[in-house]
Formats: sequence, structure tokens, C-alpha cells
Amino acid sequence: MNVIEKLPTLQHLLRQLQKVPYLASKNLYRVATHFLKMDEKQLQQFCALLLKAHEQVVRCPICYAWQEKGAACQFCGSSRRDAGVVCVVESWQDLLAIEKSGAFKGLYHVLGGSLSPIDGIGPEQLSIEQLVARVEHISELVFALNQTPEGEATMAYIVEKIKKNTALKITCLAQGMPVGSSIEFMDRLTVYKALDQRKEF
Ligand SMILES: [Zn+2]
Repeated sequence: MNVIEKLPTLQHLLRQLQKVPYLASKNLYRVATHFLKMDEKQLQQFCALLLKAHEQVVRCPICYAWQEKGAACQFCGSSRRDAGVVCVVESWQDLLAIEKSGAFKGLYHVLGGSLSPIDGIGPEQLSIEQLVARVEHISELVFALNQTPEGEATMAYIVEKIKKNTALKITCLAQGMPVGSSIEFMDRLTVYKALDQRKEF
């Protein structure tokens, strides 16, 4: 008889942990053991914080970056940023990498992913309509999508939707970003150069 089958509650926990993306399956038992060994008070605080973060950290209704509920978005609500330039990113993690590079002082638009029909991600799953509505009020749209087929397809789709707005300058990251790479994992200098030397689409 399987050891885990004799521990149905633990088995249930492991099944839930299996659903957590990015958690390598080889680490499941270690993570489960970590929770089992936590003292009850610590564990209660941890669970309460998870619930609180889920409720209190929400998406900005304009740029879709995370913000604290009830507080102004640190980007859209800032007078120090150039509201005429919007940088389109796939994820909030990409936004973090760009902020770290210090190369960009405009606003953002977080798409929430890239078009991937195979995974069931179409335009409705991303904040594309909301972006199209925003571009009427800006002068430059900077595409900082990942250098993947999905990123390219997403950019082409959006450009097609907004190209009637001829006054808008559309730029994308300079060459030099490794193909297949994700902005999130790129070093600060590469991100800085790619943005600083951005070229017109
Ligand atoms: Zn915002």
C-alpha cells in the first residue's frame, strides 16, 4: 500500500499544492512538510495574510497593475510620470523589471498575458479593449512584450486595432533582446538599453 494513501488529509493537501503553478513537483513533499511543521499561530497568521492580500491587493482599473484597495495607483495617480507615454507589458513581473531598469518614466498597461489560442487565451482574456480605449489620449505607445511568437502575435493584433489613430507613435524594444526571452528574467542593463534605444514600429 502506498504511504500517502494511508494519509488521506495529507494527500488532499498535496493535491492542492499540485495546482499551484511554478511549484516544482519535486518540491511538493518539502513544502507540505514545511506547513506541517509550522506552529499553529504562525500558520494562522500566514492563512490570514493570504486572505487579506487576496482581498486588499487589486488591479488598477486603468493600467491593471496591482495596487492597494482604496489607494491611488502609484503609476496612474502620479504627477511625476509622463501620462503621454504608455508601455504595454504582458505581466506585472515584466513591469517590475522595467521599473528596476529605470529607463521608463511613463505609464503602463498590463495585458495579463499574450494571445495563445492553444491555451484558450484570446483577446477577451486580455485587457486589449481597455488599451485600445486608452490610446486616444496618449502620444506614444511602447510595446515591451516578450520576444516570443505569442508576444509578436499580440503586438501585431493590437497594432492592427489601433492603426487608424495615425497621430500615435508606436515603438517597440530595440533589437538585442534574446529571442524567446522574457523581460521578467532579463538583466537591468539589457532592459535599459532595449527601452532607451526603442525604435519605431
Ligand atoms: Zn494604474
